[in-house]
Amino acid sequence: MGLTGADAPAGSGSGSPGGYAGTVAAPVPAHRDQWEQRVLADPQLLGDIAFAIGGPFHLMYPARVVDNIRGFQQVFTESGITGVVYYGKKANKAACVARACATAGAGIDVSSTGELTAALGQGIRGADLLVTGPEKSDDLHWLAARHDCLIAVDSIGELKRLAALDIPVRVLLRALPAASASRFGMSAEELDHAVSETADYPSISLQGFSFHLSGYDPVPRAEMAGQLLDRCRAARTSGHPATTVSIGGGFGVDYVPAADWAAFREQATRRWFHSGKAFESYYPYSFPEPGPAMLAAILRREDLAGRLRRTETTLAVEPGRALLDRAGSTVFRVQGGKTRHEHGQPYRILTVDGTSLSLSEQWFDSEYLPDPVLWPDAPGTPTATVVGAATCLESDMLSWRRIPLPRAAEAGDLLVYPNTAGYQMDSNESPFHELPLPPKVVLSEAPGGRYRWALDQSRH
Ligand SMILES: *Cc1c(COP(=O)(O)O)cnc(C)c1O
Repeated sequence: MGLTGADAPAGSGSGSPGGYAGTVAAPVPAHRDQWEQRVLADPQLLGDIAFAIGGPFHLMYPARVVDNIRGFQQVFTESGITGVVYYGKKANKAACVARACATAGAGIDVSSTGELTAALGQGIRGADLLVTGPEKSDDLHWLAARHDCLIAVDSIGELKRLAALDIPVRVLLRALPAASASRFGMSAEELDHAVSETADYPSISLQGFSFHLSGYDPVPRAEMAGQLLDRCRAARTSGHPATTVSIGGGFGVDYVPAADWAAFREQATRRWFHSGKAFESYYPYSFPEPGPAMLAAILRREDLAGRLRRTETTLAVEPGRALLDRAGSTVFRVQGGKTRHEHGQPYRILTVDGTSLSLSEQWFDSEYLPDPVLWPDAPGTPTATVVGAATCLESDMLSWRRIPLPRAAEAGDLLVYPNTAGYQMDSNESPFHELPLPPKVVLSEAPGGRYRWALDQSRH
C-alpha cells in the first residue's frame, strides 16, 4: 500500500507505470527559515493563534525582511558602489514590512496615495519614497511633490502635468526597454525629448533614469543599466544632476531545492491534478542566484559596478518579492475532507476555512507549488490530498495537485502554506462570500527568546 511512489525520491517510481503513484504529485518541499521551523515545532503557538483568530491568517516575521534588505545593502558595500533599496510595496501591504524598511534604512516604491500615506505612517520619510506607476493621478503627483518624493515619470504627458504643478520635484525618467511591448516607460526618442523638456521646467530636477523588466534574467538588466548610465553622463553635460539609475525589481526567490523542482518539472502530468487540470507555466520556484546574488550577478556584467563607481552614480533597486523571501506563511484550518478516487486510487479533497484569493498564484493560470505543511505533526498514513476553498466556486482551489501529505488531514488540523509573503497574501483578497479577510499576525522574539505575536497595524 501507500504512496511510496510519490513519497520516494523523484524518479524512483512505483513500479506500476500509470498506476497509483502516477496520480500523486512529486513533493515540492519549501526551504524553511529558522523562525518557521521553530513555530512548526512549537506544540502550542500555532494552535493558540488559530484559536484566537478563529479563521485563516497570515503569519509575518518582519525580522527576516530586515535581513533580506541587509543582503542587498551588503552587495552595494562589497561592490564599492552607492546603492539604495526601495521596497516594491505592492508585493505585500503589511505595516510591519514598511516598518522593517524604515528600520533597515530602505525606502519604498509606491504607486498610489494609499501606499504613499501607509509608508509615511510607518516612518518612511518622503525623500525615501520612489513613486512609480503609469500616468499617475494629479493627487498622487501633488502629495509626492509635497513630501519631496522621487517620482519616476512614465510619459511626456505626465512630465508636463508635473511641471504644471509648479512645486519643486525630483524625477527619474522611466525608459521603455528596446523591442519591448511594455505599456510602461518612454522610447529612446521620447526620452531625448523629455530630457530637453526638463531643461525648460525650473521646478523639475532630473535625477536620472529608471526601468523595470519582467523576467528574472540579470543580462538585459546589466545592459539596460549601462545604456542609462550613458544617458546620465549626457544629461550631466547639459547641466542636469542625473546621479541615479534604478534597475527596478524582479529579483528571483529560491523557494524549493533544485532537485525537487527538477523532478517536478520533468515528471509533472495532468494525472497528478484534481479533475485533470493542466498548467502551462510556473514561477521558477528553484532559483540558483536569488535576490542579492542576482544583484551581484548584474553588477559583475558589463563592468557595471566599475562604471557606477567611476561616474559616481547611485544604483537604485526596487525589489518586492525578494525582500519578502521566507518572511511569512499562510495558515488555514481544515474544515473537513472527503475521499475520492482516481484510477481506482483514493485521495482526499479538503475544504479549508479560507479561499484561493489568499494565494494569488492560483489566479494567474498557475499553481503555487511549495507544499503546505500539515500541523500538528502526528503519526498516520501518507495520503494524497488536494485543497479546496470554503466557497461555492468549483474552480476555487488552493491546491489542484495531489500533494503527498504525511497523513490524512482531519477537521481542526492546520495547513501552513510556506513563503507566501511575496504577492500571495493580499494582492487579490476580497471579502468574497462575505468571508472576513485573513488578518496578518506579526511574530517577534520576546525577552527570553520565545516568540510572541500581535496583529499587524495595516487595515488590510
Ligand atoms: C512590481 C514592481 C517592482 C517589484 O517587482 P518584484 O518582481 O516584486 O521585485 C519594482 N518596480 C516596479 C516599477 C514595479 O512595477
